[in-house]
Amino acid sequence: MPLIDSFGRTIDYLRVSVTDRCNFRCIYCMPEEGAPIAPGADLLSAEELIRIISVASRLGMRKIRFTGGEPLVRKDLVQIIQCTAKLSGIEEISLTTNGFLLKPIVDKLTNAGLNRINISLDTLKHDRFVSIARRGSLAEVLDGIEASLAAGLHPVKLNCVVMRGWNEDEILDFAQLSLERKIDVRFIELMPINWSAGDDSPRSEAWNITSQPTITSTGNRLTLYANAELETFRQSFQSIDPTEVKGQLDANQMRRAFVSTDEILRAIEKRFGSMVPTEVLVNGPARSYQIPGATGTISFISQITNDMCKNCNRLRLTADGQLRPCLMADGEVDLRTHLRTGADDEQLAELFRITVLHKPAEHRLEDGLAPIGRNMSQLGG
Ligand code: SAM
Ligand code: SF4
Repeated sequence: MPLIDSFGRTIDYLRVSVTDRCNFRCIYCMPEEGAPIAPGADLLSAEELIRIISVASRLGMRKIRFTGGEPLVRKDLVQIIQCTAKLSGIEEISLTTNGFLLKPIVDKLTNAGLNRINISLDTLKHDRFVSIARRGSLAEVLDGIEASLAAGLHPVKLNCVVMRGWNEDEILDFAQLSLERKIDVRFIELMPINWSAGDDSPRSEAWNITSQPTITSTGNRLTLYANAELETFRQSFQSIDPTEVKGQLDANQMRRAFVSTDEILRAIEKRFGSMVPTEVLVNGPARSYQIPGATGTISFISQITNDMCKNCNRLRLTADGQLRPCLMADGEVDLRTHLRTGADDEQLAELFRITVLHKPAEHRLEDGLAPIGRNMSQLGG
């Protein structure tokens, strides 16, 4: 019996965060110091992760994406991928990584069963990399991209979060990459998510997930932004001095730095001419295009300006063993405690079903409602 939520969506994709630790400190994701992390003992072991993924596979979840934090800081990732690949029913294993540790290990990952890779990269400029990622260096990430192409991972997807005042002047350089390389350049709209209470944005109501859950839906329809409303959303942007971002961009700063898909698309078409809509292998909710004659593709992940929720097919497992029905709304089911106190597979499967029934119709970021208490690094973006 496949997992089907209250809105008729089939849920067959599990995003698994293998750690909340990271070797970068991207300005929109983690504070430079004092990053929120779970106690080591709360992180799931490789065996625990595989047990949960095997229950998921028996429930019809076919696609697994490993993420984090930075998944490559986990020493047993190859083993985790190897065991996942052996589970019957798993058709695709993918990885989202910042690429810094990738080059020396990419062959081992592919031999273990990795099918696809997304590498996050927000700038092609070395000095700017230091301002945005604040750790690591661009050279290693570029090496990781080349190594992934050489390893035959196809298509290599680059995740670029576009931010006004930080990297929006590189949109055309990123688009240019798709001309000659077999790369899918994915422009991602910035989501105003910040774990700390340091901003004044209203929070989404946490719905109470208990052992006797009541099914809750927001009951609200997503209101798509018109361009005029986007202006209000981003407010008047004043550029932020990188040296002032000691912690992490707060939600209000993120709203000001927000650049819409529409704006990015228009900038690319102004320079390269009209793009042709295309399909990219397993691209989920992304909309993909090709510059005529290009080797690669360009995709847009528009979680703010486009109604991607209606096709949402996923659940998320946090590194500390909480199953979340939605990235961008509060509420999670505690698998870890049940797992560690002897729950059998059927009981774990029941927790999956409960979580699926709590999937909201859509996120409400556009109403200013954001998840509280977890950063993207802890959510497994
Ligand atoms: N560390 C890995 C990486 O950076 O690829 C995996 C985890 S990271 C949380 C996953 C993705 O989430 C990255 O592509 C990152 O750029 C994106 N991300 C993080 N915070 C975001 C935000 N506030 N809005 C949009 N994307 C975000
Ligand atoms: Fe680390 Fe990825 Fe977050 Fe950057 S986006 S801080 S690389 S988890």
